Amino acid sequence: MIRHAWQFIQRRDERDILNYAKMNDSEFMQIALEEARASAQAGEVPIGAVLVHRDKILARGGNRTIRDCDPTAHAEIVVLREAAQKLSNYRLAETTLYVTLEPCAMCAGAIVQARVPRLVYGADDPKGGAFRTCFELLTSPKLNHQVEVTPGVLATEASSLLQSFFATRR
Ligand code: ZN
Repeated sequence: MIRHAWQFIQRRDERDILNYAKMNDSEFMQIALEEARASAQAGEVPIGAVLVHRDKILARGGNRTIRDCDPTAHAEIVVLREAAQKLSNYRLAETTLYVTLEPCAMCAGAIVQARVPRLVYGADDPKGGAFRTCFELLTSPKLNHQVEVTPGVLATEASSLLQSFFATRR
C-alpha cells in the first residue's frame, strides 16, 4: 500500500499553524502573573514563572516554598525542573524563562547551570536581585555562560502584586 506523504505533510502543517500563533513577551508574562496570583491564593509569596521552548510553553508554575517545605522551590526552579524532565535534558537550549521578579542568586545559578539562553523578568528585587540590583551573576564574564536579559516587562503589575500581598500580611 502506498503511503500518501501529503497527508502527513498536511497534518504537520496544521500543527505548525497552531504553534505559529506566536505570543510576545508581555503575553507570556501575563501567564507568569497568573501563576503568581495562584501562588498568593495558596498563601505563598506571589512570584510566577513560565518556561518557553521554541515559542511553546513547556512549564508554568509559581513559588511553592511554604507548601513544599522547600527553600529551593522558587518559581524559576519549579519550571526549570519540569521543563528539563519534559525535554529529558538538563540543558535547556532554545528556551526563554519568564519570571515576574528579578531572580535571586540561587535561581540565577540554576539558570546558568541549565544554559537558559534568555531571561525576561518583571520587577527588580532590591532584596536580592541577581541580574543587576544586588549582584550581576547572569552577565558575569567569569562564567562560561551569559544570559540575554530583558528586564522590566509588566514590572508594575508584578510589584503591585507583591506589595498588596505583603500589605495584607502586616
Ligand atoms: Zn530564586
